Amino acid sequence: MRVSVSACLVGQKCRYDGNHCKRDILDTFLKEHEIIPVCPECLAGFSIPREPIEILDGKVITRSGKDVTSSLEKGVEKALSILKENKIEIVILKSRSPSCGVGFTYDGTFSGCLIQQDGMFARALKKNGFFILQVD
Ligand code: SF4
Repeated sequence: MRVSVSACLVGQKCRYDGNHCKRDILDTFLKEHEIIPVCPECLAGFSIPREPIEILDGKVITRSGKDVTSSLEKGVEKALSILKENKIEIVILKSRSPSCGVGFTYDGTFSGCLIQQDGMFARALKKNGFFILQVD
């Protein structure tokens, strides 16, 4: 089976703070499948490290208030193309991210409050019918 996964979950240091969030719990499962790691924020051309982003009123903003919605949309489109080209069957996403989070993401106030909303990439994947799993 071909599986795509948020790149930070498999050890790529692509998070805004320059770290990864590798989850060893995925190791056994991922060893048995062909893995395509993707990071929509890297594909958007965002630097590492970078300012954190959150979604506020449908727009993606940095902590200092810059609107980066259109850049992230481009990154999401690129990530989506990679998944389609590789005929991915399952996507494993990192929770709470404004890009990869499924169901709950931060509320745009940079205060740690979660609200019910998908990240941009998660939303696009749902729209395109991908099967999604989420890891905390
Ligand atoms: S955009 Fe997704 S893959 Fe990239 S660092 Fe954030 S959670 Fe990880």
